[in-house]
Amino acid sequence: MTAIFVSQSLAGGDFTVKSGAAEIDVRIDSDVTAPQEAGLRKWIETDARAVATYYGRFPVPRVLLRIHLHGGAGIGDGVTYEGRLIRISVGRATSAAGFADDWMLTHEMFHLGFPDLDDRYNWMGEGLSTYLEPIARVRIGAISQDELWRGMLEGLPAGLPARGARGLDNTHTWGATYWGGAMFWFLADIAIREKTQNSKSLDDAIRAILRAGGDGSAHWELNDLLEKGDRATGTTVLEDLHRAMGLQPKAVDLDGLWRRLGVELKNKRVTYDDRAPLATIRRSMAGTSR
Ligand SMILES: [Zn+2]
Repeated sequence: MTAIFVSQSLAGGDFTVKSGAAEIDVRIDSDVTAPQEAGLRKWIETDARAVATYYGRFPVPRVLLRIHLHGGAGIGDGVTYEGRLIRISVGRATSAAGFADDWMLTHEMFHLGFPDLDDRYNWMGEGLSTYLEPIARVRIGAISQDELWRGMLEGLPAGLPARGARGLDNTHTWGATYWGGAMFWFLADIAIREKTQNSKSLDDAIRAILRAGGDGSAHWELNDLLEKGDRATGTTVLEDLHRAMGLQPKAVDLDGLWRRLGVELKNKRVTYDDRAPLATIRRSMAGTSR
């Protein structure tokens, strides 16, 4: 890079993104050009908006977002620390489409809104981030309905218990942690909606946990979390489902569930059946309201 080009194009590299009253302080470990900064800004603003729209506000008042910029393309290595710091790697050559396709920053931002639990329950936070990331993004139009359901149809089978699995609290594989955890929240969402005639949902439980101080800086006991979430929906879905999936594997008839929701992959295309018994619930899951 020539000196003259640098002086015209360097934008500094540190900036703050606001989400309502919350501030995301962005620190980049090397210089960026103005177009690179614009791309980063748009990506962070969009994902913050997805998460803030889900909760009704950004989950923490302030977070430091440290970006490691490398020479390639794409986004990776996201880690969130105690509700106050997210580290993530971004390639300088990441295209606008690459930023738009990224799920990782939204996933990390959801960790800001969920308390730390004892290690054996890590699947709860990982599963929640996995489940809510596409839900939050479809609700702001960042991904399509087809992308949401394709991700669920293709991803959730990895959360079915493997042979020899001993329940999510005792099985610390990748599949159990991320997709087994996502399965828990997916089943919980459907069960809450079924039991309340779709007047309550997982949204109510998760927002209540955050409102009670359960953000990423807090350490909670599992029972408090289940109780707080269940109280918000007037059900015992979370407690019952944890009893069913935590200490032993739970068989899930995923194909039957897709039929009841009225969604399937046909010749690699997502198709919908609006006469399916849970079609209204399926539409509500992707909607901004119940
Ligand atoms: Zn995670």
